[in-house]
Amino acid sequence: MSERVDYVVAGLGALGSATCMELARRGHRVVGLERFELGHSHGASHDTSRILRHSYHTPGYVRLTQQAYVDWARLERDAGTELVTVVGGLDLFPPGAAISPLDYTTSLDEVGIRYEVLDRAGVAQRWPQFSLPEGTLALFQADAGIVPAGRGTRVMQEQARRHGADLRELSPVLAVQELDAGGVEVTTSAGALRCERLVVCADAWANDLLRGLGVSLPLEVTLEQVTYFRPERPADFAPDRLPLWIWMDDPSFYGFPCYGEATVKAAQDCGGPVVDPDRRTADRDAAMEAVLAGHLARMLPGSGAPVRSLRCQYTLTPDRDLVLGPVPGHEPVVVGLGAAHGFKFAPTLGRLLADVAVGDRTSCDLTPFRLDRPGLTDPAYQAHWLV
Ligand SMILES: Cc1cc2nc3c(=O)[nH]c(=O)nc-3n(C[C@H](O)[C@H](O)[C@H](O)COP(=O)(O)OP(=O)(O)OC[C@H]3O[C@@H](n4cnc5c(N)ncnc54)[C@H](O)[C@@H]3O)c2cc1C
Repeated sequence: MSERVDYVVAGLGALGSATCMELARRGHRVVGLERFELGHSHGASHDTSRILRHSYHTPGYVRLTQQAYVDWARLERDAGTELVTVVGGLDLFPPGAAISPLDYTTSLDEVGIRYEVLDRAGVAQRWPQFSLPEGTLALFQADAGIVPAGRGTRVMQEQARRHGADLRELSPVLAVQELDAGGVEVTTSAGALRCERLVVCADAWANDLLRGLGVSLPLEVTLEQVTYFRPERPADFAPDRLPLWIWMDDPSFYGFPCYGEATVKAAQDCGGPVVDPDRRTADRDAAMEAVLAGHLARMLPGSGAPVRSLRCQYTLTPDRDLVLGPVPGHEPVVVGLGAAHGFKFAPTLGRLLADVAVGDRTSCDLTPFRLDRPGLTDPAYQAHWLV
């Protein structure tokens, strides 16, 4: 006999946990299914920290970040715990940068977000830790902050359970079938569940779940690496002395001030090899670490030597845009995917995915994130991940 519930959410990383939290908060019977144990490190939502920022390359994303700050603040209130650490953010555009500063300044201007433009000397005066090439342009936005990855996901799971969601770990979804009478049947190793709608938040494994519907999204999974460095003088890299930074070039790098420990974390964006998420290693990549250490030695010379590295998966869409919406032709199945920049939006994406699942109006236009957009359907679409 199939178990009947209102909604099933497949995958309990940041997006699935937020969606369960939102559906349960609205009083719906929701079951969340996770193939590994909750809090595992095989996906994209583990480790210490993620960047939350307003500076984005389109006004649409800048507006979505405004909702994200509101939703993180609500989560903090509901959970009675601090989750956002505001430290400020520097977007660094070296001469001839592959990423245009204009996309960022015009997007922030259109939405009315305050920021400062600094040159090399202006950065050196405020943050002497940086050593930048002549002609570098910097964009400082004071509200940029750090949100905790693993802890943030756990808090959303706790809130989901507090509202009555049934979260089941070690419960892989094995098959998805749309029912003629409406709704979806979800088969797990423990039996089948029937629901009005299924929300797929399986990131790197999304296509495994959509295969049963004859659907496959053009996703690339890359195995990224973050590295922790131990600075000689950690006080110089404290959150009130060093902002978040993003090197807006190709290759692109990003980094954090000290956060909960006397190390600075940094990584290359889209620097990892394409992998099969079920056959990937967790081992440190010395070559990736060397490339990053070389960049830090030039740009942030006091950041010290690497002390540990950690692997994590990016799931990239060709246009690096989020995926949010029903599967065309299979409307009872909804997909949520962060395109390797989704953590900052997690509480908001959970709310929007719940809106889509229950058929409510959404607080923003989801057209850019539809599954039938050219970036996901046009085989000739030229992928570009650096935005
Ligand atoms: C190194 C790194 C740095 C990042 N930095 C930032 C940042 O600074 N800011 C930012 O906003 N974003 C950042 N991101 C992106 C962000 O972390 C991800 O977009 C986000 O965590 C994705 O969450 P998710 O829940 O969709 O995916 P995941 O956390 O991967 O969750 C998917 C879940 O689905 C489960 N699953 C898969 N198959 C099944 C199945 N058959 N049955 C049941 N469960 C299943 C998996 O086990 C997994 O738990 C970064 C990502 C990485 C890797």
